[in-house]
Amino acid sequence: MKRKLRMGMVGGGNDAFIGAVHRIAAFMDGKIELVCGAFSIDPQISKQSGEDLFVAPERVYLNYEEMIEKESLLPEGERMDFVTIVTPNFLHFAPAKLALEKGFDVVVEKPMTVSVEEAKELQETVERTGRTLCLTHTYSGYPMVKQAKAMVKEGHFGKIRKIVVEYPQGWLSRLSEREGNAGAAWRADPKRSGKSLVMGDIGTHAAHLAEYVSGLKIQELCADLTTFVEGRLLDDDGSVLLRFENGAKGVLMASQISAGEENAVRIRIYGEKGGLEWANEDPNNLIIKMLDQPRQLYRTGNAYAAPYTLSSFATHNTRVPAGHPEGLLESFANIYRNFAATVTAKREGKTPTAEQQDFPTVYDGVRGMAFIDTVVKNNEGTEKWTKFVL
Ligand code: NAD
Repeated sequence: MKRKLRMGMVGGGNDAFIGAVHRIAAFMDGKIELVCGAFSIDPQISKQSGEDLFVAPERVYLNYEEMIEKESLLPEGERMDFVTIVTPNFLHFAPAKLALEKGFDVVVEKPMTVSVEEAKELQETVERTGRTLCLTHTYSGYPMVKQAKAMVKEGHFGKIRKIVVEYPQGWLSRLSEREGNAGAAWRADPKRSGKSLVMGDIGTHAAHLAEYVSGLKIQELCADLTTFVEGRLLDDDGSVLLRFENGAKGVLMASQISAGEENAVRIRIYGEKGGLEWANEDPNNLIIKMLDQPRQLYRTGNAYAAPYTLSSFATHNTRVPAGHPEGLLESFANIYRNFAATVTAKREGKTPTAEQQDFPTVYDGVRGMAFIDTVVKNNEGTEKWTKFVL
């Protein structure tokens, strides 16, 4: 394909938070252009957003149904190639399903849906249509997260025993949903957010990161959810004990009432021979702690000699020379770049490389929804451990 991939957006208008981040990430490598959108629930805001983004007025649609239908009738040379869905959680499934059915690839925000049933239906649709669905679990795009995964996979730490993953935020320490914060309002509303606030909003990121880096699947869990802020309709804090498939044990903490915290995602993994530590607020560093050795600091973008050479997955996802900070936008862009390369390769009848296929998919989305369901079920029930059922 000798052209850019054409992107349409559902949500992400001037009234939105994450949509703009998606556009920066999508455009970073010059392989994607925005051609259409139904940018907001409010048609006026959608129209204005389209104008601000220089989208042709006739391709700023009233709603996602009209957009997907009308785009599917355009000639191949014009119509969008994929849809990015950046609406509140309850509005992911319907546009994703419709887009896949009409022959479009999809980028969708987490949590993928609001129920396991919907998630499984999307999985079936992806498998039947052969389309590509990318789920934006942001933290898996960082080069040092890729390096951590590669080192676990090559057995650097021996058999993995312990996985500790944390995602504390402080921004919901007050009842912001009643104070005019639109993002807080839909997140704290069970009808628009799903069964759990904290697990849907950030717990799924932590669970995905734990499984992604360790390469191990959660098998059962024991959860404790709390609503600390009076008047809130959903939980705002959670602690979960995890049992992984090889006997490894884990702890997951996701909290939105950790007053003063920003986005302090952190993962630590320990094996028989040593461990690793990575933190979102210092993302170019990967700390390696081996038994009986001084600590090592792996840094993004270095051409280390063997045996310290950075993995092909880390270097593939590195953009600037060592010492120049890379962050969330680049990590997000890595997810888009790998998605775009995979979509392009598939259309050209080629097989994407392993590095290009390295982005979260519909299967991660199904696991994310099963994670939320299992946590809520365990928290509400009386059994000590609840099996993670897909
Ligand atoms: P937001 O409330 O700021 O924006 C939502 C947007 O969707 C708005 O533009 C709104 O008008 C639009 N919208 C609502 N209904 C619509 C409809 N029927 N048709 C078209 N547009 C519609 O929300 P946000 O913070 O941007 O979050 C959006 C999604 O992104 C959520 O699922 C959230 O969980 C996810 N998110 C992910 C990350 C991440 O790190 N990956 C970060 C933030 C948010």
